[in-house]
Amino acid sequence: MNNTEPTVLPDADLLALSVIWEHRRQRQAAGVKILLLPFVPCPTCGAPVDEVIIGPQDQATFLQVVTMQPCGHRHTVSEDALLRLQEHVGEMLTDIEDADRRDEGASVEAIVREAHDRTTPDNPPTSEDAPDNPPGSTREQLPDDVLALLSHRTYLSTACETARLLDGAIIRNPGRADLPGHRDRLHQRCRRNQKFTGVACSCPCHPTPP
Ligand SMILES: [Zn+2]
Ligand SMILES: [Zn+2]
Ligand SMILES: [Zn+2]
Repeated sequence: MNNTEPTVLPDADLLALSVIWEHRRQRQAAGVKILLLPFVPCPTCGAPVDEVIIGPQDQATFLQVVTMQPCGHRHTVSEDALLRLQEHVGEMLTDIEDADRRDEGASVEAIVREAHDRTTPDNPPTSEDAPDNPPGSTREQLPDDVLALLSHRTYLSTACETARLLDGAIIRNPGRADLPGHRDRLHQRCRRNQKFTGVACSCPCHPTPP
């Protein structure tokens, strides 16, 4: 066991770890015990990681602690960082599932590279909440004459769509008291308008305009 002070897990490492961890969890839940994605090496010492232990909270900072095994290095993760990366995790998992379906599998190197790209400011993420594209921004919106050519479909934002998936998870996992909080935060994070078309999110969580 390593007793040094935990270090903050950088966003790129946290994103790669979250994607791999969730992908392994889903596969194990589906009964697949072979060909699980390996974890990335420990960000502190570079040692191979066999197991990642999540929790308990750090007593000084109340941050979640993630411990790499066998080296025992501890890293802290803030809820802000998790929320900031949540959409990237979802998008990357969807891509990996698509690759799995095509039997292409996913390589850890590709996940690490993408996690780095998505979290490096010089290389803005393509997600809906890229820093230069705040909620309400029309920067990426298509010209009006192009919009007029589109047949409008109802739009549900990624945040609200994921929140509604969580409703199902809440019903299936009544013991998980943390889930409603995640759901509510996702609804709050909705940017309200589709970034390319400006169409308003149809989720019932938003008050209907007068
Ligand atoms: Zn280590
Ligand atoms: Zn919503
Ligand atoms: Zn919404």
